[in-house]
Amino acid sequence: MTEQLKPCPFCGAKHQVETVARDWYRIRHPEVEECPLNEWEITYPQSADQLKYLVNDWNRRAIPADQVLVPRELLQVVFELAVERLQYQIKPSPSDEAAVAELRALLQR
Ligand SMILES: [Zn+2]
Repeated sequence: MTEQLKPCPFCGAKHQVETVARDWYRIRHPEVEECPLNEWEITYPQSADQLKYLVNDWNRRAIPADQVLVPRELLQVVFELAVERLQYQIKPSPSDEAAVAELRALLQR
């Protein structure tokens, strides 16, 4: 299996998708006694669709309560605006102000 799996969110252990017999795909956490996922495993039926779901489900991570998910493009616009303002004291354009308002709204959730 060549699918990229994120490491364990608790201990950093690496994972890979294994094929179990002819019918199943499996992700199994290795033996790491200190980890809450010690020897945990999940299996999905063996098909291309199910493999995609298995990889996506494993790789999806919750966002900690004190963080927000910000699109990279929005963060880039706001970052560049901040740098410009610091360097050149440039007045923000309407699109810059819209990006700042969007980021402000995300941070107030
Ligand atoms: Zn772990």
